[in-house]
Amino acid sequence: VPPAPHDASGERVPTRDLAGLAPPAHPARRWTPRRVVATPAALDHPHGRRIAARVEALGIEVERLRANRLTGVRGQTERETYARAKSTMAIVVSPPARRKLQPIAPSADWRFDLAEGCPAHCQYCYLAGSLSGPPVTRVYADVDDILAGLADYTGRGTVTSRSAERADEGTTFEASCYTDPLALEHLTGSWRRAVEHFAAWEAPVQLRWTTKYADVDTFVGLPHAGRTRVRFSVNCAPVSTRMEGGTATVAARLAALRRLALDGYPVGLTIAPIMPLPDWREHYGLLLDQVAAAVAGVPGLDLTAELITHRFTPGSREVLLGWYPRTRVEMDEASRSRKYGKFGAVKYVYPREVMTELRTWFERELAARVPPCRVLYWT
Ligand code: SF4
Repeated sequence: VPPAPHDASGERVPTRDLAGLAPPAHPARRWTPRRVVATPAALDHPHGRRIAARVEALGIEVERLRANRLTGVRGQTERETYARAKSTMAIVVSPPARRKLQPIAPSADWRFDLAEGCPAHCQYCYLAGSLSGPPVTRVYADVDDILAGLADYTGRGTVTSRSAERADEGTTFEASCYTDPLALEHLTGSWRRAVEHFAAWEAPVQLRWTTKYADVDTFVGLPHAGRTRVRFSVNCAPVSTRMEGGTATVAARLAALRRLALDGYPVGLTIAPIMPLPDWREHYGLLLDQVAAAVAGVPGLDLTAELITHRFTPGSREVLLGWYPRTRVEMDEASRSRKYGKFGAVKYVYPREVMTELRTWFERELAARVPPCRVLYWT
């Protein structure tokens, strides 16, 4: 097989016949950072240099830092710091702690990171309270080393490796815990390398990520071997249109899901965060009908759903109220139940009766409206 051609940045570009998989009429939304910086250590890595070249080819200047510390992202006020950090991308080497993988039930056996931070502005953002410091998007230059290090974890884990229902997935690796891959792929090319890495792997493995973006052009036609499951995070219109600033529309996400499914990728829905807003049955019913239309007629469709209700911690609430003082997200401790984690940390979730009502509705309606969809878990 002749090698695939490379584009200017050294990335492989797809060669397969893409008939029927044409991009949608509305191109997907793409983030343009205001400031891009690179540390000297990052530029020692070939992938760090590839990212810098890709960014420069897009007409964005890359500031070469003198030291490996990121400076100049704090403003006079919290708001200014937030705005500056959110529009900054830093090309860095991953922190050593990130190279020791953590289990990530119920989604996957292991999590690994190719970046940290996200340019979108979801008012319930999962990163709030998990990451410390100003929310700069850091993309990792040592991607090749990170991918090579995953081999130590195959055949181990607690989710798919031990589950009869998901055993066919092999050892699963989640790559979107601290970021949104499709928000950054046009700037990094990192997740494409990951797709090809997993496709070429001899052991049974699966790469997984979830996204609220829709830029899948460079994934269509890639040799993926069915080893990558891309899930699109979707929500009903009152949530997606009012609380998910900077993301692609749900219609664009579902069009992207269809394109990947037609290209043979296993795909999925992350319906999250589920919120019992006024008229939620109607709103979520419309969403499920949109999903059904998006997957209609896809041959060999492999579609899963992960159903995640809204929750918050005291720490995430405080950060989110700082970032979004006029948020529309309900974070009222008094109307929630407390749930304790392994180390005693508290989370606020919906009370048991609300959870039961939501779960019963979603499981029934998904089966009725989108029959090919397999629910992986509810939480
Ligand atoms: Fe946070 Fe995900 Fe929204 Fe990005 S897309 S702001 S990571 S919730």
